[in-house]
Amino acid sequence: MTQELLGAGLDDLMARARAVRDAAHSTRITYSPKVFIPLTMLCRDKCGYCTFAQPPARLQAPYLTPEQVLRIARDGARMGCHEALFTLGEAPEERYEVARTWLAEHGYASTVEYLHAMAKLVLDETGLLPHANAGALNEDELRLLAEVSPSQGMMIETLRGDLPCHRGAPDKTPERRLATLEAAGRAGVPFTTGILVGIGETREDRIAALEAIAQAHARHGHVQEVIVQNFLPKPGTGMQHEAPCPQDEFLWSIAVARLILPAEIHLQAPPNLSDDFGVLLDAGIDDWGGVSPVTLDHVNPERPWPALDRLREVTEARGFALAPRLTIYPEFVRRPQQWLHKDLRFRVMDRSDAECMARDDPGAFWPEKVTAADVVQDGAEVVLVGHRSTQWYSGATNPPPVLLPSPARGRATGAIGEVLEGVRAGQEVGFDQIVTLFRARGPEVVAIAELADELRHEAVGDAITWVHNRNINYTNVCTFKCKFCGFSKGPLSLNLRGTPYLLTLDDIAQRAAEAWEMGATEVTLQGGIHPNFDGDYYIDVTRAVKNAVPEMHVHGFTALEVTEGAKRLGEDLHTYLRRLQEAGLASLPGTAAEILDDEVRAILCPDKITTDEWLDCHAAAHEIGLKSNVTIMFGSIEHPESWARHMLRTRALQKVTGGFTEFVGLPFVHMASPIYLQRAARRGPTFRENLLMHAVARIAYRGLIDNIQLSWVKIGEAGAVQMLQAGCNDLGGTLMDENISRAAGAAHGQAMTEERFTSLVAPLGRRLQQRTTTYGRVDTVAR
Ligand code: SF4
Repeated sequence: MTQELLGAGLDDLMARARAVRDAAHSTRITYSPKVFIPLTMLCRDKCGYCTFAQPPARLQAPYLTPEQVLRIARDGARMGCHEALFTLGEAPEERYEVARTWLAEHGYASTVEYLHAMAKLVLDETGLLPHANAGALNEDELRLLAEVSPSQGMMIETLRGDLPCHRGAPDKTPERRLATLEAAGRAGVPFTTGILVGIGETREDRIAALEAIAQAHARHGHVQEVIVQNFLPKPGTGMQHEAPCPQDEFLWSIAVARLILPAEIHLQAPPNLSDDFGVLLDAGIDDWGGVSPVTLDHVNPERPWPALDRLREVTEARGFALAPRLTIYPEFVRRPQQWLHKDLRFRVMDRSDAECMARDDPGAFWPEKVTAADVVQDGAEVVLVGHRSTQWYSGATNPPPVLLPSPARGRATGAIGEVLEGVRAGQEVGFDQIVTLFRARGPEVVAIAELADELRHEAVGDAITWVHNRNINYTNVCTFKCKFCGFSKGPLSLNLRGTPYLLTLDDIAQRAAEAWEMGATEVTLQGGIHPNFDGDYYIDVTRAVKNAVPEMHVHGFTALEVTEGAKRLGEDLHTYLRRLQEAGLASLPGTAAEILDDEVRAILCPDKITTDEWLDCHAAAHEIGLKSNVTIMFGSIEHPESWARHMLRTRALQKVTGGFTEFVGLPFVHMASPIYLQRAARRGPTFRENLLMHAVARIAYRGLIDNIQLSWVKIGEAGAVQMLQAGCNDLGGTLMDENISRAAGAAHGQAMTEERFTSLVAPLGRRLQQRTTTYGRVDTVAR
């Protein structure tokens, strides 16, 4: 291979490298929003190109104090960074008395021990994920840092042991660098390494170093990214008069790295060390590395990072989409048992989106700290304390980012572009295509939203519909133990606080009558599964409503309630549903679906009905003429593959029965959800994921389910306006007394009015139209 690479022309190598990159990573180019924490600039090595390392006389103090470390980290957290990059010299205490004394005075035996303490401090106080870049370490040191640092790094630089630039650098011997790379593999550390180009090594030397990295990765699978960095001479260094790495040599090295390394290893080149950095994309990179909105690149202080907007512009100009990542790459986040210390798993998950990339809503992101609420009533049992995140979350009042610019200009190339082309040509999307669409970023999201909006127009025109309804959650006592549910109370519930309640049939009838008086056409009945209920309870509830208001549409009972009701009476689903229908039940809500993927259900709601049981219940309902809808609760623990399975299973049933009237996206509200408080779920979907869920649903259910509904309770009014431009056509219900989202911590109001719906829709120039539960015109309902 070496000879073949050495003999190939640059254009050929770059074209082949691009092909490898495109096949493995498609149009996605990543970066890590970070702050740079130069813990110590003392170093026992003296490398000929380095301006980072300083002698003690030129530093005010040997180490940053904890206060200084925290100040930098907090600035980063405020700016929405995800990574705290700790950069430091190699074992300064081995060389400098002042370092030994400082460490001893502060109670640390080594620089690595102090780094461990500071990484933990940053993690605990700001939630930023540390990346320790501490040079050549032994396995024990790597394992210690792995408790507080989800990834670590050390540049191999070169495997030439005789370069003049490394003469004064005992840590830069090939043996020591390779030993660290190997130890990181044994310790199971997601690892960043790389080569330095232009410090006197040959092309053969670079190939040898890259091959050594590939071999270590083959043994341990731990190399997450390789950095190819170009040498630039810096004043005051031993190499100040040397020529910079020629651009062709740099591009050659990037392309060769892409061809030698396995395609799954990410390839990075720093954008701040090249004037025309867009060309690095042409050589096959898929990552820009850490980009800081706050701190200098302390290793190359004379080369500021390009502003994020410029990075995005250059990336998008070449047909790619820019996406923030965490310091640990998604492939490793997906396997936390293998790659993350147990204390870091939630910290990483907390910052992740469904693809295990960094959450990409702008704004500050702080660890959530909660305390018990003084007054619970029907709201959340805990309230947030301490620093407040300013990012958008489902259920919170923080504003969403504007994802759909006006006028919208979507653009999608690569795999996403192909899927959209196929849809325009009339093809139905399958599993792979749906998962691909959920990868979209930036202009790709806009392109998907534009297509979804066109399909919405084709299917239902421009009317935006709503239903005047009232929720009646007749009890919050429940024998089930759904881990996301902050609503249920009772001896078996995960929550021990709050007030259990059970409405009487008279209460229910009265609420139905009040709702009718106020103009409601529907009551939505759902609640916990009370241990004392038998199946007749639901029939009695239905009758109570119908006796009070014969004209009221009773939209009630989840597939769980129906299945439990039938089971407790020993009846089959059809018989039981017919009895409910005879009592006045007119349609079923699609809740209790959560995610129709049994692997996820086994964690989220292990004792609840399975996917098949949910589908069987809805199939039975459809067969006897009861319509229902599809809901999805997304953004807790699952990944886009589960969303695709959910869509495909429900779409398959719709092809048989045609009984689903709408798809309703229900973003997970994390704030007071037990599974989040137990540190085992994400913070709900990002706004991008939320927008995509509805837009992709519009595409996936094309010609089968015409109505895509958004949940204003969870998304908020500002978010709703964007969703209505991304495939949604329905605002759902006015939802007087919506308790379930509030119990999970949602802050949006308890009831919507027609006036508020009207003002929400007005800027879109579309018509608001009241509907019945089954999408009839409301003026045809006798009142
Ligand atoms: S989601 Fe429903 S079934 Fe599950 S615990 Fe809550 S109330 Fe009970």
